[in-house]
This record gives sequence, structure tokens and C-alpha cells, in this order.
Amino acid sequence: MPDDVVTMEKIVALCKRRGFVFPSSEIYGGLGSTYDYGHYGVLLKSNVKDAWWRAMLSRDDVVAIDSAILQHPRVWEASGHVGGFSDPLVDCRTCKSRFRADHLDQVACPRKPSKHPGEGPDCDLTQAREFNLMFQTHVGPVQDTASVAYLRPETAQGIFINFKNVLQFARKKPPFGIAQVGKSFRNEITPGNFIFRTREFEQMEMEFFVPPTDTPRWYRYWIEERERWYLELGIRPDHLRVRAHEADELSHYSSGTSDIEYLFPIGWSELEGVADRGSYDLTQHSEHSGEKLEYFDTASGERYVPHVVEPAAGADRAALAFLVDAYDEEDVPVAGDGERTERRTVLRLHPRLAPVKAAVLPLVKKDGQPELAREIAQTLSGVLQVEYDEGGSIGKRYRRQDEIGTPWCLTVDHRSLEDRTVTVRDRDSLGQERVAIDELAQLLAGRLAGPWRSPKLTAVA
Ligand code: ATP
Repeated sequence: MPDDVVTMEKIVALCKRRGFVFPSSEIYGGLGSTYDYGHYGVLLKSNVKDAWWRAMLSRDDVVAIDSAILQHPRVWEASGHVGGFSDPLVDCRTCKSRFRADHLDQVACPRKPSKHPGEGPDCDLTQAREFNLMFQTHVGPVQDTASVAYLRPETAQGIFINFKNVLQFARKKPPFGIAQVGKSFRNEITPGNFIFRTREFEQMEMEFFVPPTDTPRWYRYWIEERERWYLELGIRPDHLRVRAHEADELSHYSSGTSDIEYLFPIGWSELEGVADRGSYDLTQHSEHSGEKLEYFDTASGERYVPHVVEPAAGADRAALAFLVDAYDEEDVPVAGDGERTERRTVLRLHPRLAPVKAAVLPLVKKDGQPELAREIAQTLSGVLQVEYDEGGSIGKRYRRQDEIGTPWCLTVDHRSLEDRTVTVRDRDSLGQERVAIDELAQLLAGRLAGPWRSPKLTAVA
């Protein structure tokens, strides 16, 4: 199977080599599980977020919001995060390591790896205590209990506390949704697996407010809609599944949650959760703030607290899934030498997600080719993300573009100066066609807008 070649190590190495993502604070030895995004990583993640925004805002029943990261501390009391957003922890007095009390059977004792923490003769574990996952800070110059604030652990609450504002100013009535993309922070005890679980990450959440009796229908609707979004962006169907939570897995506020899971190299793991949150959040904030958060229909006189269906996704985790799904290796003929083959690494990303859509490459660095190539890059840059590259052999430049997932390489050669055409090389099929320079923008824009199917899928089928 072509996807057998993917491992998390290869993804991490490619991301570092090509400047997608690298460990944060590296010159100081790094800070556990924090990452910085380089040029191509920024472009990829921003394409993921753009695709999400487009899916939300191309509808007329969803509006956008961008709430503050620092919110009134009572927001987190009302939401249940101050009291309940915690994991049980134990410390070992001997080796000074810290473990999740409910995960002891999944980790090894650092001193005696054949045993679990607590099983070795020297292990000396403390009692389990609750560890709140929220990062605390202080607002203002005085650091006392009155000035405590939290970095938001989810974007959702910023939506609930603005429910009334949106009802009033966006003139919406249920069913309607409020969407937000932004950073969230969780002091995760066991972060890891690259950008899958970090302490600072970006979420893409939408709270959809519905009349209570319509909740089951909208819950099913959003599970399907969100699954479709990943498939349309090229995720292979056999690597995506929906898993409904068992009753004992459900959060305190939820009467139904389904995870959209992706088959990562670490196994099936959550990509996105779709939850029926009932009226929990609006009711809690009404009680804690004293502000009525409900819908009143002036025409019918009907008054109710809407229920909420929430699709909550992670931008970093989605970017990782797209990278994993796209990663491929294959033997291809060496450019200009039909006899020999070489191994290439290629990111078969959906063109809409690819960081760079087209690379413009002069075949040689003379005879007016660089000038014409720059002119083409300049013209196309108004329409799509392009890159000009003249460094190294053409084969090397193709390999580099393959590794960052550029769907089309536009090569300027001696003929280009005579008839104003270029070769368009397709990343996946390696097919080449001759296209007039004046038609490039329209051709590529058309291809970008069209449907797309992962060639890895075709190879498996
Ligand atoms: P998990 O079970 O993986 O901890 P969760 O169920 O706590 O996730 P939610 O609170 O539902 O996650 O958050 C919605 C989405 O935000 C997740 O599906 C995931 O994509 C993303 N997310 C949550 N925590 C992290 C994290 N620590 N790092 C990166 N992404 C995260």
C-alpha cells in the first residue's frame, strides 16, 4: 500500500527540512511540545483555516466572531472549566516524574522501563491530585487572587458569552451559528506526537443554535457536513471514520458526541468532535451573569433557550492529517535521463491546500529566460500563490517543489521566448503540456476551483 511509507518521523523530518514546522525556542534547547510554523507551514495552515471559513461563511446561517483570549474569570467558572477541567496526577518522589493517575498502565517507569510507575521497588508515588489544565495569569500590576485570569482553553465560550450581541446585531434567529478561529491553550500533561497535541494550538469552532426539538436532526447534519469537508479536501475515505462516544466518555454537558477520526501513523485519533451540548452553556452563563440568554420570537411569542450543536476542530491537527494523507514516495525517471530512476518524496496535497500553487522555473539562468519567468511569476502572483526559483538543476528544483506539494511547475525554456508558451508539469502524473503564457492564469484558476481526488486513492484502488 502506498501509504505504508508514512511515519510520524518522516513527517517531522520533512516539516523541518522544508521549513513547514520546527521546534520552538530551539536555540535555547526548545520548550516541550511547542512549535513554530515556517513559511510553508503558515501557508498550509492558513489554507486549512480559509477552507474552513469558506465552508462556514458561504452559508447564510453562520456568522463570524473573534473574541478575546483573556476573558472574565467567571466565564470559566460558569463553563465548568475552573472546577472540572482537570486530570488526576501523581508525582514520584524518587525520580521526580509526573504521571496521569489514570494512564499509569500506559507508561513506563523512567528508572525501570520494564515496569509501570509505582511497581518498582524504589517508586514512591504521591496521592493523586487534580491538575487544572488552564494556564493562569494575572491582569494588571497586582498579582493577587482578585487579578487571576486564564488563557482560554477553548474558543467556544467566547461565542456563548456573545450570544446576545449576535442575536441583536446580526439579526439572526435559530437555527444559526457563530464561528470562530483562534488560539487556545491547555497545560496538557502528556503533549506529543508533533503538532497533534500541543499546549498552544488553534481551534476552528462553530456553535450552532437550534430550537430544542430540532437538535437530533442538526447533530446528524453537522457530523455529515464536517465529514464531507475533509473528504472534499482530499482525505482518503478509508482513513476517515466517525465514532460515537460511549455514555461513559461523554462530557458533563453533552448528551451526544461523535468524533471524526483520522488514521494517523499513531492509530485512529480524534480530528474533530461534533457535540450536542444541549442548553448547558447558555443556561450556565445566564445563571452566572444574570443576563437572559434566550431567544424570543416576537411574532409567535415563543421563548426558549436554544440548544447547541458544536463542530470543534483543530487547525494544527487538521494540517497534520492533510500532511500525513498527502505524503508519498515513489521511483521516478531522472529528468533528462530516461534510463535511470530516483526516489522522490511528494506531498499529494489538494491543490487548494498546497502552500504554493505554481512554481515558475527558468530552465537556464541566461538568454532572457529568468526575465520572462519573473514576469510570469509577477503576473500570476495577483491570482495565486506562486514562487520563482532559479537555483540548482531543473531536476533538483522539481524535487523541492514536489516535497512542498506544489501542484504545477511552469518551466520557461528557449521556445518560451519564441512563442510565449511554457511547459506545465503536473506534480502527481508528471505529465507535461505546453500552454500559452496568456492562458496560464485562467487555466490554473479553473483547475484550483475544480474537484480533486487523491492519486494515492487511485493507486490503491
Ligand atoms: P483530545 O481528546 O484529543 O484531548 P478534546 O476532545 O479535549 O481532544 P476538544 O476540546 O473537543 O478536544 O477540542 C476540539 C478540537 O481541538 C480537537 O478535536 C482537536 O482537533 C483540537 N485540540 C484539542 N486539544 C488539542 C491540543 N492539545 N493540541 C492540538 N489540538 C488540539
